[in-house]
Amino acid sequence: MSKQRLINFSAGPAMLAAPVLQEIQNSLMNWHSQGVSMLELGHRTDAFYQMTQTCKQDLKILLAVPDTHDILVTPCGASLHFSYLPLNLLGKHQVLDYADTGYWSKKAMSQAQKFATVKLATQVQETNNIRIAPSTTWALNKDAAFLHYTDNETIDGIEFNEVPVSPYAPLVTDMTSSILTKALPVEKFGVIYAGAQKNLGIAGISMLIIDKELLARCPNTLPDMFNYQVIAQNDSIVTTPPTFAWYVMGLVVAWVKAQGGVTFFQELSAQKSQHIYQIIDEDDFYINDIHPDYRSRLNIVFRLHDAELEEKFLAEAAEQGMIGLKGHKAKGGLRASLYNAIDLTATQQLGQFMCEFRQRYG
Ligand SMILES: *Cc1c(COP(=O)(O)O)cnc(C)c1O
Repeated sequence: MSKQRLINFSAGPAMLAAPVLQEIQNSLMNWHSQGVSMLELGHRTDAFYQMTQTCKQDLKILLAVPDTHDILVTPCGASLHFSYLPLNLLGKHQVLDYADTGYWSKKAMSQAQKFATVKLATQVQETNNIRIAPSTTWALNKDAAFLHYTDNETIDGIEFNEVPVSPYAPLVTDMTSSILTKALPVEKFGVIYAGAQKNLGIAGISMLIIDKELLARCPNTLPDMFNYQVIAQNDSIVTTPPTFAWYVMGLVVAWVKAQGGVTFFQELSAQKSQHIYQIIDEDDFYINDIHPDYRSRLNIVFRLHDAELEEKFLAEAAEQGMIGLKGHKAKGGLRASLYNAIDLTATQQLGQFMCEFRQRYG
């Protein structure tokens, strides 16, 4: 017999809600009485097209996407958008503004630099009280093609608690690890993008919301597969899409809607993260270096005062059915990712383990 399902606190690919997995299992052989599996369903069939349209409509409702913006789906992870964004949106501009708040911002900048001059709008300093400077103090360029920021730094555990003000250029944000966890003024954004494997489903696919006006900037010299305008004109089916990943995204989005939407998960997310941060802050057994105003609700990054104990922490957590708590290799330490599929009970189980572990070794 295989063991029971574990609580997976991994940063991504991440845990899926049980009803989503159950639905996949139930309809794997025969999807919606089509007589074929979703794994076998043609991407040009009406049934598949309807599925993509429902997914889009659900996302539009959940994120309150206005008619000025389109929702695209692309067959890639978030990292490819680090290149697609400048390729599509540079237009006649030469400069791009980037806020550097950690690992994924730096990755995004490293790719943008291949196509344009990247200027630093702000940079988070590594201290023991890490903050993001308010956007009113950022160095911004009047002629920048866009201003890019990473809403939630999955590896560093830093999150924006407000939308930066961008007086000149369209605002572009990577929300791979925070999409569907907070209400957004979508109309203020040029682009919002997210890889699926954290809060939207499984690996292999990304979702991108774009201001339709920006589509005019996409150069027709770009390969069609890279071109946001061509992708938009073809309902995001320029090539055979990762049909199964799209299907799973549709299920996740429907599940989020059924649970109570973004409002529900925003409240839950605050509750879950506060629970764990409170335990961390009780004394200095657990350490988190982020100023409370900029702590991520989704990825709680922490260390033990005695680093030698970290292996023990991971081993004992695993014994209790909790995995995925090791920090990213670039950062070390520990990390608990609390995406939407991690409920309050699972979070409390982690909290209780953290308290007991401290009692045993503190
Ligand atoms: C995981 C992650 C990425 C990279 O996603 P890929 O799908 O592996 O390309 C980029 N940005 C953020 C914020 C992430 O969390």
